[in-house]
Amino acid sequence: MKRKLTIVLMTLMIMATVVYAAQEDYTILVNGTPLKCNIPPRVVNGYILVPFRTIAEALGVDIHYDSSTNIIYVNSKPEEKPELPQEQPELPLFAELVNRYWTETDLETPPIDGPDDFKKFITEALEVLKNKTPNEYRIVLSYVKNIKLGKADTEERYDAAVVSDGTVIFNTDSYNMWINSRCDKEWLAKNAAALLVHEATHMQQNVCGMSIVGGTQFTKDDIELMAYLAQYRATQKLGLGKEAEKEMWKHVEEHLKK
Ligand SMILES: [Zn+2]
Repeated sequence: MKRKLTIVLMTLMIMATVVYAAQEDYTILVNGTPLKCNIPPRVVNGYILVPFRTIAEALGVDIHYDSSTNIIYVNSKPEEKPELPQEQPELPLFAELVNRYWTETDLETPPIDGPDDFKKFITEALEVLKNKTPNEYRIVLSYVKNIKLGKADTEERYDAAVVSDGTVIFNTDSYNMWINSRCDKEWLAKNAAALLVHEATHMQQNVCGMSIVGGTQFTKDDIELMAYLAQYRATQKLGLGKEAEKEMWKHVEEHLKK
């Protein structure tokens, strides 16, 4: 260690000038300016020892001494522990696993049942899903067998629902409201894409025996929590905007609290 320090010192001494004066009284000029030293330079065994930190700092050199390791860092950073990423951690959803093991080869887009404008709308939704969130796209293609416009046989208010044969039904009223709204058409297609992810997740739960219908240990809230998490992720990835993300996260929390 000492040897290294000497080398650095010598380098520094070239940059700074030590002016020899009588009776071992030395003046250090840094860029022509005399340096005030708390510890005066002195001669030991024929070497002029100078206060390293004072000179280094005057030259704008970064210096740090670690007494626990006896390492002097000169324009060097002590090894930093890697910081944890600040952004939200990726949630290990099934979609990522699918991506590892499956390819697109045997996946077909589901038939779309409804008026032409609906078919076009859903085709756009699938297209944007394919381009922006390929993993989720595969999930949708794997579990959604049909997409149609109509009314699901349920009392609850919904924009889309899935029935046990894998048919996703988009609510006619919701759909009409969307296409007659002033909302950007591409945004609406992305919104429908995120909804498809939600419904495909339910279908996946069904296939895996997690569905509430199967009478497993999972509650209806567990089931919805998973579906909304998937939809939340899709909302983020599709770039539906902060407002939509906030709205979706509300649904996640709603089922998380119970
Ligand atoms: Zn749901």
